[in-house]
Amino acid sequence: MAYDPNNVFAKILRGEIPCRKVHEDDHVLAFHDIRPQAPTHVLVIPKGAYVSWDDFSANASDVEIAAWVRAVGRIARDVGVGDSGYRVIANVGPDSLQEVPHLHAHILGGRPLGALLDRD
Ligand code: AMP
Repeated sequence: MAYDPNNVFAKILRGEIPCRKVHEDDHVLAFHDIRPQAPTHVLVIPKGAYVSWDDFSANASDVEIAAWVRAVGRIARDVGVGDSGYRVIANVGPDSLQEVPHLHAHILGGRPLGALLDRD
């Protein structure tokens, strides 16, 4: 899947639409999810143009990968869920219902989160 430069997170990265920023460095931007599903719901994105974990893991540099992975842990601590615990989710592709085609890690916490998946 080719990267769509008009996806909503690309627009946030270009400053074309606002976000509630939590963290920014050379490689990473983090901001609050607009439709939070837990008391803490932060999205952590690489600044590079990567569709998903699949794309990023295959094509990003080691520097970009290290920056993103370290940022997820650091941001979770900074927003206060490091000790209480949290869940990191990255949806990839159709079966996951990935909505925005720019890699993002959801950090969810601030309450007991229940089972990993609903059973259907
Ligand atoms: P996913 O289904 O993993 O692609 O998740 C996309 C997430 O992006 C959802 O949780 C949305 O609520 C969130 N989202 C969509 N648009 C925005 C936005 N403009 N600012 C912040 N979060 C957004």
